[in-house]
Amino acid sequence: MSKQYYVIGDPVAHSLSPAIYNRLFELYRMADSKYGTRRVAREALGAFLDGLKAESVRGFNITMPLKDAVLPYLATRDESVVYGANTVVVEEDGLHGYSTDADGFRKSLELNGKTYEGSSVAFIGCGSAAKALIRDCLEHHPRSVAILNRTASKAGAFADSPLVQTGTLEDISSHMAGCDILVNATPMGMHGVDADFADLGFLSELPKDALVADLIYNPPKTPFLLEAERTGHRTMNGLWMLIWQAFYAFEKYTGILPDLEAFRILEKELSPVR
Ligand code: NAP
Repeated sequence: MSKQYYVIGDPVAHSLSPAIYNRLFELYRMADSKYGTRRVAREALGAFLDGLKAESVRGFNITMPLKDAVLPYLATRDESVVYGANTVVVEEDGLHGYSTDADGFRKSLELNGKTYEGSSVAFIGCGSAAKALIRDCLEHHPRSVAILNRTASKAGAFADSPLVQTGTLEDISSHMAGCDILVNATPMGMHGVDADFADLGFLSELPKDALVADLIYNPPKTPFLLEAERTGHRTMNGLWMLIWQAFYAFEKYTGILPDLEAFRILEKELSPVR
């Protein structure tokens, strides 16, 4: 019997997940596994879960707005599940939830020559994606963490840490000296979003060996990343995190963590999609 996997959410039609997982099933010769999208509204989640067995669903990924909604249905949740789950493995004994975003981002940093350990890290934005990354960063012994958000009070959950400084977007410049890793975790610069950084002058104050990361992958180079390239910085777009979080989810499903060669193949194949 074939093994079915899905990404569920609303909307999901434009998700890149089927392209990633179906390619992995091909690369790892798992012809009996298939991955599709399933549009599931919040109120339809229970009905989707009731049908898992009949459809031989072995696992599913979760996108907005269901990352929190699935939590009450989980038999177990990994310690990574703090701000919602993105991966659920379906077993005989119930549903097992994971969040692989932070692992995927940390792996991407490592492949770009950076680790949180001993680093000064600045996050622009403090929404659901940023929070998972900031929590993980704080668990990996950074030297300091700056959280710069339009609404400064939203960084409150982390303000108790002696390593954390918080501020607004106007304060970005004052956190550039000594910064090793700068992350845009806002939708500013994203395709279809009007908002963008009013001024990117802070990038010229960033040390030259700092890595500049954007969680956005459409467009592949946001104005933020283009300016960082112009100021001579190494850059990393959101495709890295997107692919590596999927690789860690694939490992939960199959026991196989795809390798760097698989990453290179997918990065190349997905790049023109955007
Ligand atoms: P979210 O929970 O809605 O948070 C959005 C964050 O951006 C908040 O900090 C918000 O500030 C800030 N923001 C929104 N509009 C802004 C504007 N016009 N000016 C300044 N700040 C603004 O969203 P999210 O889920 O964290 O996603 C954030 C970004 O990460 C999105 O671009 C998303 O596509 C991307 N993402 C990428 C991946 C990946 O795998 N590559 C995974 C997840 C997310 P306030 O607190 O003031 O509202």
